[in-house]
Amino acid sequence: MPIALTKGLDQKCCDCGIALYKKEITGELGGWFIDYAEHEEGEVHLKFCSGCWERIKEIMNRDQGDAILKRKELEREGAKHTIAQIEAFSDEDLSDIDFRTPDNTGVGM
Ligand SMILES: [Zn+2]
Repeated sequence: MPIALTKGLDQKCCDCGIALYKKEITGELGGWFIDYAEHEEGEVHLKFCSGCWERIKEIMNRDQGDAILKRKELEREGAKHTIAQIEAFSDEDLSDIDFRTPDNTGVGM
């Protein structure tokens, strides 16, 4: 059954994919991109819902030390999934993954 288009609901979040009214767009990113896998380049203009935009801003504001720590935590001995696998999981899948460290504090490497 085809989905009826709702007037004004013609935008979408480029992260979670939800349809948005223009007034619901909370953040935008634009510029030049390179897709190394597909050997393509071009211009992009991405729009985001409020939840995704807040998450993107939080990630952009983290320092590189936090990023390295996150990677080491995922790669440490005993990790059952690669970063690519974890990023492909839905939130529901992630609730089943045990991210605790061996001492169960969730901290350390
Ligand atoms: Zn979103």
